[in-house]
Amino acid sequence: MAEIRVENVQKSFGSFTAVKGSTFTIEDGEFFVMLGPSGCGKTTTLRMIAGLELPTAGQILLGGEDVTFNRAAARDIAFVFQMFALYPHMNVRRNIGFPLVCQGMPRGEVRQRVEEAAKLLRIDHLLDRPVSGLAGGDRQRVALGRAIVRRPKAFLMDEPLGTLDTEFRDLMVRELRELHNRIHATTVYVTHDQLEAMSMADKIAVMNHGVIEQFGKPQEIYDRPATMFVADFLGSPPMNFLTFHGGLAAGDRLVRVNGAEVPVPEIREDHAPAQFALGIRPEHIVFDDRSKLRGAVFGSEYLGTTQIVAVETAHGSIKARLPSDRIVHPGETVGLAFRSERLSLFDRASGRAVR
Ligand code: ATP
Repeated sequence: MAEIRVENVQKSFGSFTAVKGSTFTIEDGEFFVMLGPSGCGKTTTLRMIAGLELPTAGQILLGGEDVTFNRAAARDIAFVFQMFALYPHMNVRRNIGFPLVCQGMPRGEVRQRVEEAAKLLRIDHLLDRPVSGLAGGDRQRVALGRAIVRRPKAFLMDEPLGTLDTEFRDLMVRELRELHNRIHATTVYVTHDQLEAMSMADKIAVMNHGVIEQFGKPQEIYDRPATMFVADFLGSPPMNFLTFHGGLAAGDRLVRVNGAEVPVPEIREDHAPAQFALGIRPEHIVFDDRSKLRGAVFGSEYLGTTQIVAVETAHGSIKARLPSDRIVHPGETVGLAFRSERLSLFDRASGRAVR
C-alpha cells in the first residue's frame, strides 16, 4: 500500500510559515497534483513528503506507517527533480540502472529491470546511446526510467516538465499520464500550470499562501470552485465575476445585479446583506437580446471552433466563449445571458463560495 496521508502538516522558516496546516490523503495508485502560484508552498509540501524537509508540526504517513521523522532514503519514494542530473559520461542503460547498481543488485536483474523500464518509456532503442546527444524529451524519459526502475512506493515530481518547450511538454504530459495508466504508482506532481494539472490529475489540491483552498477531482474543482481564488486560477480565460450587494435567503433562485434578475442555483442557507460576486465561466455565457445585462463588444480572439469575445459592461469587462460562426462587430451592443445551473456565488469579503 502506498497511500500517503498528510495530517495537519505545518512548516515554518523562522517567523515565516510556508505551509499552514495541510491535511489530505493521496490514495494508493492515484495521480495527485499540487497546483498553485509560485511561492504558495507546493515544493515545501512535496519535500516534506520526500523526507527532505522536516515539518514544524503534523504527521506524514506512508501506507499507514508514520514516516514523519524517517530519513528520505528510508521512505522508498523516488523524487524526479526539475533539473535532472543525468551522468553525462554514461550511456542510457547505465544511467537508468545506476540506482540498482548502487543497491548492489545482481547484474542480470539490473539488466532485466532496465530493459523493462526502457520499454515502458519507449526508449529501448536508445539504451546503448550516450545521454549527452539526447533531445530534451528523451533525457526526460531517461530520468523517469531511473526513477521507475527502483519500483518505489511513490513518485514525487516537482515541475518535471518546466524546462521543456511547449511541444515536448504536451507530448510528455500525455506520456506521463499513459505511463501512470500502465504502472498505477502513487504519484505526487507539483505544477503551477492549470492545464497540465487538469489533464493529468485524478485529484488536485489548489494551494495559495500556504493553504489548500480546495481538494478534489479536476472537474469538481472547475465546476464548483470553493473560493474565488480557485475559480480565477483554473480556466483560460478565467471565470468572470459580477459584483452585487444584497442579502440572500434560503430557497432564493434569483439574484439582482443592477436591476437585472439573474437565475441562480437554489440558495441553501440565509446570508446576511453583504457584497457578493456572481461567477460565470466564459463558456456558460450566451448573447441574448432579451437580457437586461448589456454591454458593447470591444474585441474578439479567434480560436478555431470557438472565439473569446470581450464585452465592456457596467460591471467591467466580461469574456464569453462563443462559436466562431457568430459574427461580432466591435462596438456592437449585446445582451448577456448565463446558463444558470452553472453559475457560482461567492461572498466577496471571504472569497468563499455561497451554497
Ligand atoms: P515555486 O513554484 O516558486 O517553487 P512553491 O509553491 O513550490 O513555489 P515553495 O518553494 O514551497 O513554493 O516556497 C514557499 C515559500 O517558502 C516561499 O515564500 C519560499 O520563499 C519559502 N521558502 C521555501 N524554502 C525556504 C527556506 N529553506 N528558507 C526560507 N524560506 C523558504
